[in-house]
Amino acid sequence: MADQTFARYVNERRILTQLRLQGAMPRAELARRLALTPATITNLVDNLASDALVIEQHARRGDGARRDVGRPGVDIALNPQGGFFLGAEIGVGLVRFALLDLALGVVDSETQRLATTISPTAAVEAIATYVEGLERRRRVKGRLRSVGITVPGLVRSDGHVVHLPILGWKDVNLRALAEAALSVPVFVENNAHAAAFGEVYTQPGLSTDAIIYLKLGTGCGGAAIINGRLMRGASGTGSEFGHLRIRTAGPRCSCGQEGCLETFVNIAALQRAYRPGEGYDTDGLSALPTRVAEAAARGDRDADAVMNGLAGHLITGLTTLVNIFNPGTIVLGGPMRPVLASRLDAIAEAVGAAIVPGMARPQIRLSTLGELECAVGAATIAHHRAFDVSNIEIGS
Ligand SMILES: [Zn+2]
Repeated sequence: MADQTFARYVNERRILTQLRLQGAMPRAELARRLALTPATITNLVDNLASDALVIEQHARRGDGARRDVGRPGVDIALNPQGGFFLGAEIGVGLVRFALLDLALGVVDSETQRLATTISPTAAVEAIATYVEGLERRRRVKGRLRSVGITVPGLVRSDGHVVHLPILGWKDVNLRALAEAALSVPVFVENNAHAAAFGEVYTQPGLSTDAIIYLKLGTGCGGAAIINGRLMRGASGTGSEFGHLRIRTAGPRCSCGQEGCLETFVNIAALQRAYRPGEGYDTDGLSALPTRVAEAAARGDRDADAVMNGLAGHLITGLTTLVNIFNPGTIVLGGPMRPVLASRLDAIAEAVGAAIVPGMARPQIRLSTLGELECAVGAATIAHHRAFDVSNIEIGS
């Protein structure tokens, strides 16, 4: 790429990022913020407008706001319809889709049932079929820019799925498989990594100095965003916080060991502790966190005790994580959210009391994206890779 072309590429993305983070603004303000000449901004904006990525709109400022002198107020804004980004979360027995527009609006979402033993090829086919449906919509046709896919397992930085025991996948080049089936760039990410990325990407005001993310459900995924970057380790498979050894013995974990945090705080742990005689199908298990939380709220002492026990194990794991990372925020996501919601204050209090004295206490809260967290997270990664130069980085 010639220098001038590269400078254009970078500056166009700086403009798109600025508009995403700060909202619509006049050309003069863009020039000032990006330290570019008005002529350069006009040239770049014209180019972006011809690609339908930005639009002009009448400025909507209050009477007290400064107005541009001598010209009607015209702002440059992202054109939400200028590009679309699909996120697909492959889970156990399901694939969940979220479609984002250029301004990060969720314009479509859908959950489809899949076989619990689905092959990588069949999972990619389900995504390709969904994409074909999108391409038939006039609004999206030809404007799907990229696709992000998440899986609940180890994923290398190059999109290669190393180990996904819960679906029986091992050494699958999922990115290559998906790019062969889809006509757009594809990015593959671990589900907790993507959810953490989506959490910060959709909240530009959130400090990204140090954030820990735990996704509690069938397993316990982890992610850390440190100094604005997703912490990935040497090959991309780091932050497996669910496999912190908090005991020397316990139920056998998906990793083959015993004593892992995951085995004490996931849905299976809830199932073992709360009326273990009851058999559950997939739907029953999915509904169990809500059922237990509702039972506790009604005064069911068994449910209350089970939730306290689970919170106790989580406190042990989080205390170690806080001592290591000194996070400003800990975000808890995943299907166990209903169980965690009523214990957040107690968990924060106990972690605060157990960490190294003098260490700052983190804020502990639930994820903001709900059940779409992985699919939206995957789509934000696709968006970031295609159009963005903000400070939050995926790493490599
Ligand atoms: Zn483990």
